[in-house]
Amino acid sequence: MSRGYMGKILFVDLTSGEIREESISPEVYEDYLSGVGLAAQILYQRIPPQADPLGPDNILGFVSGLLTGTGSLFAGRWMVVGKSPLTGGWGDANCGGSLSPAIKRSGYDGIFFTGISEKPVYLLVKNGRARLKDASHLWGKDTVQAEEMLLSAEGDHARVAVIGPAGENRSLISGICNDKGRIAARSGLGAVMGSKRLKAVVLDGKKRINVFNREEVNALSRKCNAWVQREVPLGPGFTMGYLGALLRILPTAMVQDGFIYKLILRKWGTSGLNQMSPEWGDAPVKNWKGSNIDWPMEKSKSADPDIFKNHEVVKYHCYACPLGCGGICAVTGGAYSRMHKPEYESVLSLGGLCMNEDTDSLFYLNEYLNRAGMDTISAGATVAFAMECFENGILTTDDTGGIDLTWGNTAGMIALIHKMVNREGIGDILADGSRSAAEKIGKGAHTYAIHAGGQEPAMHDGRCDPGFAVHYSVEPTPGRHTTGSQLYYEMFQLWKKVPGLPRKWPFAIYHKNGKFLATREHAQEEAACSSYMNVVNGSGLCLFGTFLGVRRTPTFDWLNAVTGWNKSPEQYLEIGQRIQTIRQAFNIRHGIDPKSFKLSDRAVGRPPMTQGGNKGRTVAIEKMMRDYWTELGWDPETGRPLDQTLVRLGIDAI
Ligand code: SF4
Repeated sequence: MSRGYMGKILFVDLTSGEIREESISPEVYEDYLSGVGLAAQILYQRIPPQADPLGPDNILGFVSGLLTGTGSLFAGRWMVVGKSPLTGGWGDANCGGSLSPAIKRSGYDGIFFTGISEKPVYLLVKNGRARLKDASHLWGKDTVQAEEMLLSAEGDHARVAVIGPAGENRSLISGICNDKGRIAARSGLGAVMGSKRLKAVVLDGKKRINVFNREEVNALSRKCNAWVQREVPLGPGFTMGYLGALLRILPTAMVQDGFIYKLILRKWGTSGLNQMSPEWGDAPVKNWKGSNIDWPMEKSKSADPDIFKNHEVVKYHCYACPLGCGGICAVTGGAYSRMHKPEYESVLSLGGLCMNEDTDSLFYLNEYLNRAGMDTISAGATVAFAMECFENGILTTDDTGGIDLTWGNTAGMIALIHKMVNREGIGDILADGSRSAAEKIGKGAHTYAIHAGGQEPAMHDGRCDPGFAVHYSVEPTPGRHTTGSQLYYEMFQLWKKVPGLPRKWPFAIYHKNGKFLATREHAQEEAACSSYMNVVNGSGLCLFGTFLGVRRTPTFDWLNAVTGWNKSPEQYLEIGQRIQTIRQAFNIRHGIDPKSFKLSDRAVGRPPMTQGGNKGRTVAIEKMMRDYWTELGWDPETGRPLDQTLVRLGIDAI
């Protein structure tokens, strides 16, 4: 009897219409878990190296997690996977909501699509039967409209993953939504779904998910929940900005305990960082050339965390989440009256990165982009890129169709984003992100395209925490902020379970300069973060839940209790390393030079900033990348996994 996993995947050939099940052997789960690991094992073998990401040979997969539906908390994340049209390499994107348990209750750990349909279709899996249905009437609808129409047709119990106009138009910065606006945004996989003419996946199943030791799982969950429910009162939202200023001014930093971040998430969600991060130097400003001087509290108050909290009418929890960092907001007088609360990443990319102080536009653009199915991080970053091109005369109103792209011009931003979603005029060029746009525009525009391997980095600045710069540059899905940083390592507290990893004493004080030293210790921390996050993403856990640390959020104990495996934390991290290595091998097989993923010069402090919290800082990125590769057993000069590493991980067949 399988435990935790379903033991089966579904394969749908959209060209022929053939739908077939495949069994997966228990050994595969032991080696790769489920979720991203299972997907990496499958896609490595089956996507040919020459496959066009938008062609029939690419495979698009929706995967759940090993812990999803087992009674483990925070275990409601799903992932979409495939060859990324944005980077040309391994693509994945992670999302909460309620799709993840629906995948498993349909009887599968993953549902994979190959081929291209002649006409728009959606997959319905209901009562154990899978079939393709006509979606012509849904094509052109936004993600919320389409989801509502599908629920009305197939029943409210169904769960829906769907693309909007951006995915249909094959924007390389488009994603896939569920739960009316929660988006798996990164890697451009909405374009892959659009290229396959697959509008949606609709799941309504009742399969049972077996667990080895349910009492133990529940006991672990109760203990974890006790930590989640512990509260300490926090001040009003703007005080977070002052905390950020303090963190900036002090020459020292403190090892952080993720419980503090839990308190922030519980009260405000990610918007709790809206003013703190730019004050601290964690949030990039003005296309990564500005600082807290350009975006002081006077301007960032447009994103005061309390504004977003005050619009919240009900808290939003993803499946199996006791924390509930999300919220449903009511807004009057705008185009949309009810929406998901804008996340920090969206607010900063559409706010400070473009010098936009208009709060109403943050609500509007966030919802508009979620409905269009376009990544808010990449969309905001691409607008910021265009604004800097405009400032330098590389783009003019003749190019933009009359749109004034002066920094902070809200009306210009909105008009431009509408054009991007609909691929009109200059929007057609910008719809594929800043690297692609810079190549088409020429005239030195590439200087202003801040990216890693074609993907715009998230709103955490490596000149404040070099760990972010490293992970943006070394991850097989570059530009990603959800895999590691020095801060994340502190919060994961892996050393408490895994002997030999660098120890950090919570609340210990150290000099900030130490963060910028390219030491073996930092490389060990970064490699451990990557491996751990592959375990987390193979389990379907939420990153925010893991911030409580491995003792309070017992990832490894849950896995053993669910599966009956009795593996050690070291063995789980080795699985994570195997997953990371096969994702890297996927990229190399598809012609990616790992060195080419290095983050743009400006974002690593070349030249160093002359003012603000990150003044004078440069990240020793090449050395840090080499050290990270060494730590994972990859060639430090090329980033290619070494033969002996492949043998040790049991994947030398690749
Ligand atoms: S912490 Fe937030 S993002 Fe994570 S599962 Fe809970 S509601 Fe979803």
